[in-house]
Amino acid sequence: LNDNIAKAEAYLAGFRKNGVMNHINGESVPARSGKTFETVSPVDLGKLADVAHGGAEDIDAAVKAATAAFPAWRDMPGAKRRKILHAVADAIEARAEEIAFTECMDTGQAYRFMSKAALRGAENFRFFADKAPEACDGKTLRSATQINTTSRRPIGPVGVITPWNTPFMLSTWKIAPALAAGCTVVHKPAEFSPMTAKLLIQIAEEAGLPKGVMNLVNGLGEDAGKALTEHPGIKAIAFVGESRTGSMIMAQGAKTLKRVHFELGGKNPVIVFDDADLDRAVDAAAFMIYSLNGERCTSSSRLLVQDSIYDDFTRRVAEVASRIKIGHPLDPETVVGPLIHPVHEKKVLSYFDIAREEGATIATGGEKVGTEGCYVRPTLFTNARNDMRIAQEEIFGPVLTAIPFKDRDEALKLANDVQYGLSAYLWTASLDTAIFMTERLEAGMMWVNSENVRHLPTPFGGVKSSGIGRDGGDWSFEFYMETVNVAFPR
Ligand code: NAD
Repeated sequence: LNDNIAKAEAYLAGFRKNGVMNHINGESVPARSGKTFETVSPVDLGKLADVAHGGAEDIDAAVKAATAAFPAWRDMPGAKRRKILHAVADAIEARAEEIAFTECMDTGQAYRFMSKAALRGAENFRFFADKAPEACDGKTLRSATQINTTSRRPIGPVGVITPWNTPFMLSTWKIAPALAAGCTVVHKPAEFSPMTAKLLIQIAEEAGLPKGVMNLVNGLGEDAGKALTEHPGIKAIAFVGESRTGSMIMAQGAKTLKRVHFELGGKNPVIVFDDADLDRAVDAAAFMIYSLNGERCTSSSRLLVQDSIYDDFTRRVAEVASRIKIGHPLDPETVVGPLIHPVHEKKVLSYFDIAREEGATIATGGEKVGTEGCYVRPTLFTNARNDMRIAQEEIFGPVLTAIPFKDRDEALKLANDVQYGLSAYLWTASLDTAIFMTERLEAGMMWVNSENVRHLPTPFGGVKSSGIGRDGGDWSFEFYMETVNVAFPR
């Protein structure tokens, strides 16, 4: 651990000295107002760096740069864009440790997961790089009198607004397809974890991305974020964050008729039937809520268990939770690190009182760990009902709410009785039950007898309050591109 902390300090030295600057048209620049805010480490709440406090003026400068860079980037042959984006992926891989260590210190998420998140970022660039050459392709549709050719064009400069959880990976997930499609980008990362967004743009430009194609403005949601969503030069906003922020962005973007793509919150069920492979289901249920600190949109935060096995199953999950290693994010043994920020920690801790008031049982956890940093014990609530706040609201921490069900009709009713619909996890040995449930569950993504394993060509996104639009495969291009049709006489 001490070696890792020393290495992290070496990686952070530049940020400690120079701060986290904006990055516009290939230049590292402070906010035009000269203002900064601090980013703190959730490990000990110590200051990590001063961050540029960008606003409308900075956004305007970044949009101008993205607009100026757009024609050349759009017109660059797809094969050349492919080559540049592969070079970005190579450069990310070469600096994966630096990215992971920086992100651990900035977010509190454990190295064992963050090391993979940096590599997933490279994989996102590779995947979309390979799709760049055919991004504009369409089809031919013939009628008796016409030959119609359809094709796609990049929509223009786009805004990307990202949250504080797994910020590097999520930024690449939005930015790589935008660049592959031929769009230019203005990125506004989350104020709680701004560091790796700066690394990404530096890495991308060093790898050959032309200046102005990608731009970075730090700042708060209500000023820099809002200005980006309202800017007439921005054609579309790709947003990942809370559902209520999504609805604010929709309203802010209405005047300029912004196209929006939303990946929002979740209260995702993991549904366990008594015929399931229970050993695997216990591990998966625990993994999907306690890994990444539970600060994960697709975490399985509601555990629905058939009543015949409810007591035994929840006892086993509680045992796993109580054994989880909590610690410094750079300790290779750590599974749960500190939560992102004292403000978020306060929110998560408040649900322990809410659970008690609502009459649920805290089977394990339910308390803060130590007095330094934002450490919270992995928690399981039992004796819960689906109408309780602990079953309806996104807590976004290592906190699981377990509810019993009688049969598949009741499981379905409970699973769907929330405002969210991002993902669902189903454990059963019965094909009939799996088909019955998956045909009726209100979720954008479902996994049967599996934890969340992503396959990049498949669609990613939610229904109901969990999102609008899909990412992944060609779905990302649907968002970042316009489809046009030309009819020729025949
Ligand atoms: P958040 O909505 O508070 O903030 C996200 C981003 O939006 C930040 O960059 C913030 O500065 C910006 N923002 C805030 N107000 C804005 C405004 N009025 N206009 C423009 N931008 C604004 O979310 P968060 O707390 O950073 O992240 C956690 C949330 O993200 C959770 O709800 C989680 O489920 C969700 N999330 C969803 C997915 C998904 O794929 N569905 C993935 C990760 C996180």
